[in-house]
Amino acid sequence: AKYVYDFTEGNRNLKDLLGGKGANLAEMTNLGLPVPPGFTITTEACRHYLAQGTVPDGLEDEVAAHLEALEAGMGRKLGQADDPLLVSVRSGAKFSMPGMMETVLNIGLNDESVRGLAKQAGGNDRFAWDSYRRLIQMFGKTVLGIDGELFEHALDALKDGRQDTDLDAGELQGLVETYKGIVREQTGRDFPSDPREQMRLAVMAVFDSWNAPRAILYRRQERIPADLGTAVNVVAMVFGNCGPDSGTGVAFTRDPGSGQQGVYGDYLQNAQGEDVVAGIRNTMPLQELERIDGRSYAELLQIMETLENHYRDLCDIEFTIERGKLWMLQTRVGKRTPGAAFRIATQLVDQGLITMDEAVTRVTGGQLAQLMFPRFDGGARKKKIAKGMNASPGAAVGKAVFSSERAVELAGQGEDVILVRRETNPDDLSGMIAARGILTSRGGKTSHAAVVARGMGKTCVCGAEELEVSTSERRFTAPDGVVVSEGDVISIDGTTGEVYLGEVPVVASAVVEYFEGAEPSDGLVTAVDRIMRHADEVRRLKVRANADTPEDAARARRFGAQGIGLCRTEHMFLGERRQLVEDLVLASTDEERQAALDALEPLQKSDFIGIFQAMGDNPVTIRLIDPPLHEFLPDLVELSVKVATEGASDKDRRLLAAVKRLHEQNPMLGLRGVRLGLVIPGLFAMQVRAIAQAAKEVPGARPEIMIPLVAAVQELEAVREEAVKILEEVGVAALIGTMIEVPRAALTAGQIAEAAEFFSFGTNDLTQMTWGFSRDDVEAAFFSRYLDLGIFGVSPFETLDREGVGRLVRIAAEEGRAVRPDLHLGICGEHGGDPDSVHFCHEVGLDYVSCSPFRIPVARLEAGRAAL
Ligand code: ADP
Ligand code: MG
Ligand code: MG
Repeated sequence: AKYVYDFTEGNRNLKDLLGGKGANLAEMTNLGLPVPPGFTITTEACRHYLAQGTVPDGLEDEVAAHLEALEAGMGRKLGQADDPLLVSVRSGAKFSMPGMMETVLNIGLNDESVRGLAKQAGGNDRFAWDSYRRLIQMFGKTVLGIDGELFEHALDALKDGRQDTDLDAGELQGLVETYKGIVREQTGRDFPSDPREQMRLAVMAVFDSWNAPRAILYRRQERIPADLGTAVNVVAMVFGNCGPDSGTGVAFTRDPGSGQQGVYGDYLQNAQGEDVVAGIRNTMPLQELERIDGRSYAELLQIMETLENHYRDLCDIEFTIERGKLWMLQTRVGKRTPGAAFRIATQLVDQGLITMDEAVTRVTGGQLAQLMFPRFDGGARKKKIAKGMNASPGAAVGKAVFSSERAVELAGQGEDVILVRRETNPDDLSGMIAARGILTSRGGKTSHAAVVARGMGKTCVCGAEELEVSTSERRFTAPDGVVVSEGDVISIDGTTGEVYLGEVPVVASAVVEYFEGAEPSDGLVTAVDRIMRHADEVRRLKVRANADTPEDAARARRFGAQGIGLCRTEHMFLGERRQLVEDLVLASTDEERQAALDALEPLQKSDFIGIFQAMGDNPVTIRLIDPPLHEFLPDLVELSVKVATEGASDKDRRLLAAVKRLHEQNPMLGLRGVRLGLVIPGLFAMQVRAIAQAAKEVPGARPEIMIPLVAAVQELEAVREEAVKILEEVGVAALIGTMIEVPRAALTAGQIAEAAEFFSFGTNDLTQMTWGFSRDDVEAAFFSRYLDLGIFGVSPFETLDREGVGRLVRIAAEEGRAVRPDLHLGICGEHGGDPDSVHFCHEVGLDYVSCSPFRIPVARLEAGRAAL
């Protein structure tokens, strides 16, 4: 294998092999830009070294040959006593990991060559000793593993309040001696003076820095694979620390915060490398370079334009000026804020650099989602009292309340409230809807509070374990004895997980106002508007909403939903209607049962009318009742206590018996979904009739009836037969289909398709049942361990597991369509609004994805990106 590439041999497409830095240095070299010569040792060599503990055979010879060529080109030898070549040894992985790995500058200096360097610079002793002390400091820290503070303290003591540039040659020479003493003391050996030995050790240190703890942590957070390794770049040194006519700087070709074109950067005179970002002295705005060195400045602007036109994107760069000569040391396509990403993409279109198709691929659904959340005003002063998990982003301010009833009550009076609970359950839904935000002290990112809040686009901080929540006393206690009682104002940041006492000012999202129907108000919104329109034009997937109420349905439509993919009916049995469900459960005769159903039917019908009206002539998929019945009944313990105390009614006693009878060890695998429909006569029929009659009253309504939890075609056939009869009686047409959410359904999809006109993949249950994970329990229990071990890179409840669950989806889609070519296919799990999962749905040929209203723009954008 070839392990070393000269900068003239590489190009920007070789990032896998040369790392981002090396690939782009090569690209700039080949563009004819002023890059100091050098070469790159490949990531393959690094992988070999990390796996075997030794560098691969032949690497040393190859490096020696490239170094010789470099020396020949420069007319100097590495570390040569009277006229030394110096190099930097720089890390550079495929994905940028800013500041996570190591770089050593000024390699090649020792007690002899330091004098040669001074001579080379026209007798500039100060510069030479400054470079030498930098080498020992960086080498000592990164290669020899000495605590960097030891060097810093020695430097600070010498400076004694002065700036580093105030130190003269003699003082710096003394500092070199001090540093050498530190090295001897800490390692028991002298600082290595052989230039080639310095280089060899530095290369291995850079390899090793791939596995430094902070690099590992960073990769885990950014989901960068752990086995890529880093490349090593050996670059001839150029010097920004030669005096006031020299310096070093960083720049962006446009503002990474706003996307605005212009000159953005910082410059520091008489400085080297990291000094600019390390903040050792105050930098000056890049514009001032024009005054100091007009020629270099003009050249820099010219190069920035060349780079933008070449990369057709925002670039960030590192440069150095050595005595009036400009050198480019790094460039890459720069990171940017979500807002800038949208602006820049459309600006580049307007400049004729990219097409609208490309613009759509330059932004992500994740960035769009961030633009949709309100934020706290960053400048405001705040008192932080706790930190939990950032479960659902956004910023919310309101009075703390500790029960759903209170939340609803105060919200009804026009107050903003934050619902604070130890954890939430389905009964808290009304309170969650009424609240501005939700704060819990228990539960992880897939806890009830978190999942529901994300679905609603509502700010949520969960699992803030420092908080002692007492619902009965209506207050919580935070560390440092802070007590927050009902009515006290708190602010929660769902983007960071932080909780503040008092009111932190909030800025609303203009992007949401635009999706709600407002005209584009500023440059950012205009950019979002253009990109969304184009994504809509190119996407093949339709986007529907998971919506259960007319309000949600209406909002979903404003956000661009092309129908409802999942209308759950269970909330229609809560609140005052619980009474009727209890009657249904307690019915001891057919008549009593029918009476309860007859009472429910008109209520259901009016629910459906509202939703059909909100959706116009778009399809509405209604899922018949799914959860186990005991979810609608009182809690076993509470009821037992009530019955045990005096005054319990006869009904309470009968209810308790029913609750006990219906109790299940594994409710999620119990009597629910289609099983319920087959066991309780008349229940599904009532729902189908309510749907049909509602549809009849709303012109244009397009109901689709969806049967949950089907595992065998026989289940579906039984329900279907009854439903078809009712539809005929009422005289309404509706598709009848099923959810595919049990593995057996996916595996027998060919049979099930005989009785289903559509499939909707219920990937929450399908994931739960395929992995055998209880969705409500496992995350807190062991997901973080699984993520650490790399068993999965992201929770399968968040992003669809392509290999396992995805395989079932593929099988079902293919075998279903084989039997019924016009079988309509969609997905309605949480995954419908997840970018990666949307791409998967596009690839397997689904017709639509369905997600919560707030995620619809994200799904539209990602469906567009998937099609390009
Ligand atoms: P990072 O990836 O952490 O930015 P770099 O490898 O880019 O690390 O190097 C750190 C600093 O040293 C940067 O400011 C870079 O511009 C500077 N630098 C690297 N190589 C040279 C060189 N050959 N001559 C002058 N400065 C250099
Ligand atoms: Mg850099
Ligand atoms: Mg389900």
